[in-house]
Amino acid sequence: MNLRTDFPILNLKNKDGKALIYLDNAATTQKPIQVINALQYFYMHQNANIHRGIYDLADQATQLFENTRLKVQDFIQAEHRESVIFTNGTTAAVNLVADSFLKNRLQTGDEVIISAMEHHSNLIPWQMACQQKGAILKVIPINQKGEIILAEFEQMLSDKTKMIAIVHISNTLGTINPIEQIIKKVKAFKVPVFIDAAQSILSEDINVQELDCDFLVFSGHKMFGPTGVGVLYGKKELLEEMQPYQFGGDMIRSVSFEETTFAKLPARLEAGTPNVAGVIGLGAAIDYINNIGKKTIKNQLTLLTKYATEKLNTISSLKIIGQAEQKSGIISFVIENIHPHDIATFLNEDHIAIRAGHHCTQPLMRFYEVPATARVSFCVYNTVEEVDVLVGSLGRMVAFFS
Ligand code: PMP
Repeated sequence: MNLRTDFPILNLKNKDGKALIYLDNAATTQKPIQVINALQYFYMHQNANIHRGIYDLADQATQLFENTRLKVQDFIQAEHRESVIFTNGTTAAVNLVADSFLKNRLQTGDEVIISAMEHHSNLIPWQMACQQKGAILKVIPINQKGEIILAEFEQMLSDKTKMIAIVHISNTLGTINPIEQIIKKVKAFKVPVFIDAAQSILSEDINVQELDCDFLVFSGHKMFGPTGVGVLYGKKELLEEMQPYQFGGDMIRSVSFEETTFAKLPARLEAGTPNVAGVIGLGAAIDYINNIGKKTIKNQLTLLTKYATEKLNTISSLKIIGQAEQKSGIISFVIENIHPHDIATFLNEDHIAIRAGHHCTQPLMRFYEVPATARVSFCVYNTVEEVDVLVGSLGRMVAFFS
């Protein structure tokens, strides 16, 4: 199966005839032609606003939109379709839960637990809620390998804990966190568990009923879908408890100047015209993933990560940051005396796209005492030959700077 032909951008040639080597998949994945076509087809043949029209075109657009909700429901094995709320991304979904769910439950002195490897998106919304309510944000420490210290986590749990928010796969270290174990440990305390699945949704088996998480969020653009669309999954009774976050069209039952009553789920949490085309594009991305199979995706990430780790370790001045036993397709590294930004700039000369910076995890950079890292992140379409080009280029760079 040569998936690369599905991704037009991977087949473009630069002026010097060389192809792009795209190793920034943790930031966003490239889009297959099937998703691009679905978006184009929608705008050319199916475009109308949803839920409100009585004519055929609007009815068809509504069905396509709602059909994607069913696809997402099936994709994450949610019990109810109303548990799937469309947002404009992971960040929006975290903010929605922090604002509309957590704040109503938090009291002075309560505690919220996150881990030391959270993306700022799964840190600041909880921090703000805590600050506003006089609650305390507690942080589960990690070891040098970049793994959560579970024993410390158990010590932190108490009847003051009101929420636990954990990233499934770290976007900086690639660590796959043992969310099943974490959720099991928390059960006795009846504390809601919120999972940031932004980096795991594409390659990990996610069954929200089996996991028994309370919330789970992800972005379409990290799973072959368009930007500007994401999903909040929540247990129905918890979503029902939430106050609508935004008010406006589509989320009401009745409105007068004196009073408004709100619609049922999912509409009550989806005010205004949603990203209709984006949601339909997300549906096409789900079809695409189901066609390949998550197992194939995961196997390729495992293979590339193992291969790249071995090759990178042959460069003596290079140090990999994050050496967890359970790792996904993300490798952060630093090289003695070369700033990560210079690494990325140098690689760019060879049309190799990697990311350099703090990856929205500044506390993690402080933990490892580095200002930034260089990060390569793989997708199913990457190859061992691309890793060879990367390592060759890095070797030349080290020789150049020494
Ligand atoms: N959490 C993690 C683990 C991420 O990798 C990202 C994206 N880098 C986000 C949250 C935020 O996602 P978005 O920018 O799509 O809202």
